[in-house]
Amino acid sequence: MKILDIRVLGDPALRKDTTPVAEITDELRAFIGEMFDTMYAAEGIGLAAPQVGRSEQIAVVDVEGAKYTLINPEIIADEGTARAEEGCLSIPDVYGDVTRASRVTVRAMNELGETYEVTADELLGRCLQHELDHLHGKLFIDYLSVLKRRSVMSDWERRKGDYPGFIRRVAAEKKGPHHSEGEL
Ligand SMILES: [Zn+2]
Repeated sequence: MKILDIRVLGDPALRKDTTPVAEITDELRAFIGEMFDTMYAAEGIGLAAPQVGRSEQIAVVDVEGAKYTLINPEIIADEGTARAEEGCLSIPDVYGDVTRASRVTVRAMNELGETYEVTADELLGRCLQHELDHLHGKLFIDYLSVLKRRSVMSDWERRKGDYPGFIRRVAAEKKGPHHSEGEL
């Protein structure tokens, strides 16, 4: 099992658009396995390739056992709006309310190259939208009000020194009773 370093806010990798995967190789499948291992080690429910420094359209999610590998995903339908609190593995200990579609249908490929569609609401629907945003350089803090974002950023300025080089080494973190169940 290989745990990848997670890039945190400030790393330019998080703000880059990603490129579609052209071919699903063994190397790519191994990388996807490492993404799952890293997500579980960090106690997250979703992880996108830019969060571990790769600029390809790949994300993984596991929301209460609903487990998906998303290669070249796109939202093909959405409806309604819903507001709920989100966090992100790349912005540790920061949370904020985000309004998103209440229900989405995503079309993607799995690691076998098979195209599938998933329609989801509640936490899975939110997680899918959050991860797809990562593939386009967008972060949940972009949705916060100016005031909330300003307070989040000044808090982050004080704590970013905990992550030299914008790297979060999950394997080295001490596990404590912290509030991480919402990090995507
Ligand atoms: Zn995230």
